[in-house]
Amino acid sequence: MAEKKQFKAESKRLLDLMINSIYTHKEIFLRELISNASDATDKLYYKALTENISDINKSDLTIDLAFDKEGRTLTVTDHGIGMNKEELEEHLGTIANSGSFKFKNENESDDIDIIGQFGVGFYSAFMVAKKVEVSSRAYGSDQGYTWVSEASDGYEIFETDNLPIGTTIKLYLKDNTEEENYDEYLDQYHIESLVKKYSDYVHYPIKMDVTTS
Ligand code: ADP
Ligand code: MG
Repeated sequence: MAEKKQFKAESKRLLDLMINSIYTHKEIFLRELISNASDATDKLYYKALTENISDINKSDLTIDLAFDKEGRTLTVTDHGIGMNKEELEEHLGTIANSGSFKFKNENESDDIDIIGQFGVGFYSAFMVAKKVEVSSRAYGSDQGYTWVSEASDGYEIFETDNLPIGTTIKLYLKDNTEEENYDEYLDQYHIESLVKKYSDYVHYPIKMDVTTS
C-alpha cells in the first residue's frame, strides 16, 4: 500500500511558489526536465564506460517527448540511471537534497530574471502541471516505482511492475485560464521550439512521439 507523505517544510515553500507562480516563463520547466533526463543519461553512460557494460549503446539513450492531447498530458522519458524507492523519496521529496535553487553558471542561461537565473529544478513542473507522476526503475534493480504528487497534499510512492530502466515524468497539465493556455505544451511545434531554445546543448537525441492521439 502506498502511504501519503508530506513534503519537508522548505520543499513545501518552493512548491507553493511554483504552484502559484505568475512567472511568465513557465516554459522553462521543459529545460529543467530535459536537463535532469540528460544528467541521468550521463550517469548511466559513464557507468557503462567505466564498468565495461556492453549492452548499453549511446544511440539507444534518447530522451523522448510524448503528448496525449485528449488526456492533456506531456511526458518526458529518459533511458538513464533511474531512481529506486529511496532515491525517489530523497531526491523528489526533499529539496535540500537537490541542487535546486543554486545559481546556474552565467553562460548557461541568458535569462535576466530571477527564476531564470536559478536552476529551479524538478519542482518547476508544478508551474504547468496539477499532477506529476514519476515512474522509474533504477539500473540494476528488478522493481520499479511510481512517485505521484498533486503538490500541496504531499506525495505517494507505489510499486510499478514491468517498467524499463530509466525514468518517465508525466505531467497532467493545469486547466486553462484566461491568462494562461497550457494547451500550448501539447503542441508539437511549440515544444520543438522550446527544445531548440533551451536544450540545444543536450548531446542525446531528443525524440518526439507524434503518433499519440
Ligand atoms: P538538480 O538537477 O539541480 O540536482 P532537480 O530538482 O532538478 O535538482 O532534481 C533533483 C534530483 O532528482 C536530481 O539531482 C536527481 O538526483 C533526481 N532526478 C530528477 N530527475 C531525474 C531523472 N530523470 N532521472 C534520475 N534522477 C532524477
Ligand atoms: Mg535539475
